[in-house]
Amino acid sequence: MIGLIQNETIYEYDIRSLILAFMLGEKIELTDSVDSIYDFIFEVSYQRDETILNLYQQGKQIRHMTLLGNYKEKKIFKNRMKRGIYQIFSQTLKKELPWGTLTGIRPTKIVFDGFAQGKSKEQMICDFQAEYLASKEKASLCTEVAAKETELLSKFPYKKGFSLYVGIPFCPSTCLYCSFTSYPIDTFQDRVKAYLDALLKEAAFVKKAYRGKKLQTLYIGGGTPTSLSVKDLEYLLNGLNEYFPFTDIMEITAEAGRPDSLNAEKLRILVKYGVTRISINPQTMNDKTLKLIGRNHSVKDVWEKFYMAREAGFDNINMDIICGLPEEGMKELEVTCQAVKELNPESFTMHSLAVKRSSKLNRMKDTYHFGATEEMTAYAARCARQMHMEPYYLYRQKNIPGNFENIGFSQKSKECLYNILIMEELHDIIAIGAGTSSKIIDDKNRRIYRIENLKDVIRYTARIDEMIHRKEVKMNPK
Ligand code: SF4
Repeated sequence: MIGLIQNETIYEYDIRSLILAFMLGEKIELTDSVDSIYDFIFEVSYQRDETILNLYQQGKQIRHMTLLGNYKEKKIFKNRMKRGIYQIFSQTLKKELPWGTLTGIRPTKIVFDGFAQGKSKEQMICDFQAEYLASKEKASLCTEVAAKETELLSKFPYKKGFSLYVGIPFCPSTCLYCSFTSYPIDTFQDRVKAYLDALLKEAAFVKKAYRGKKLQTLYIGGGTPTSLSVKDLEYLLNGLNEYFPFTDIMEITAEAGRPDSLNAEKLRILVKYGVTRISINPQTMNDKTLKLIGRNHSVKDVWEKFYMAREAGFDNINMDIICGLPEEGMKELEVTCQAVKELNPESFTMHSLAVKRSSKLNRMKDTYHFGATEEMTAYAARCARQMHMEPYYLYRQKNIPGNFENIGFSQKSKECLYNILIMEELHDIIAIGAGTSSKIIDDKNRRIYRIENLKDVIRYTARIDEMIHRKEVKMNPK
């Protein structure tokens, strides 16, 4: 356990995030005295012109640092403070973090700001290393992704439209690491129709509220939308298509992540309605791990459903994998990546395992050995490049052991614009369904308004009018 002593709370969030990046899962407790019950105590004393940092181990002082400057000038001081904390913990634990002091979800935002100030790619790479102590590899990767996003967005009038996210919170079973809103479809089968009716009521409201604005990208996710029966899937697509004619939407993605949710009929329906991109996600191509993480499908199913999707006509298929799954090392990752290379999808998303608080994995974290390594993420990235793909979006999550990242790679012109738009918060993304969250971008006042829907499927369905009212209140604040 870590103790934290501070005489102000101004940087408490940053202190906690950075310490946890070094020591995932540790408890940080506020205290006011150096007590040996803590493994470490981090003490911050803010004074007018200097800030003093001390680290104690088992009650004994082991590090000391003085940072000069006015701590209230957040713009300048925050990074200085984070560099100080980084150096103290890095030296003590003999550990480097590939992203340095960066604990935020969207590091590409920093590069965008740099580009807007006229900085070159090379300058941004240097800045990243000096200012945030990131490794040269991560600095180059982040800059490459931001440059790619800039190129893709320059051809797309995203300010003239919006995106719609449709949440279908059902899956065949629950994965060990899942933290999404997801219910086992078998148990909830008799609630599905009422849920879809509520969701379509929300869609009708969005159509009315956004009259005159073009729906540019549609993302049907969850959960796994293809967990729905053939009849329910068609009911959903038909309903959405009535409010937002699919032929007018430039990009329609549907998650078909779980191979055990797919069959030829469902794929035919997705094609019939004009879905342009699907995801078939193995996560791993090792049967033993699939079983351990609670996915009711085999490696053979992944191969079969992938070819079935090709036969149905899909020419834009994404595959997700996770580096650092429980009991997996380099050997297992190599098996997964080689199989994906053989299947040759158009895009490939590399995740680093995150241990989310609400996941079963979090409750069982002492049972397994897991976590991505630099070698794993570098290997998966190399495989993506061998498939002639380039990285085009990137985000980080809290609670990733080792503080790694998730990267979307794609072949040229097969990128998913929705993924960039949601990451970079560039236009309104309206989300419908249980557990979804809408983001309204107010450029004039440089604000983002969020609207959350209830997570519980039964409560969401019963209180759909309240969900719509929440949207009504916030959708026109400009
Ligand atoms: S497929 Fe995705 S949403 Fe469904 S249980 Fe697994 S992690 Fe959760």
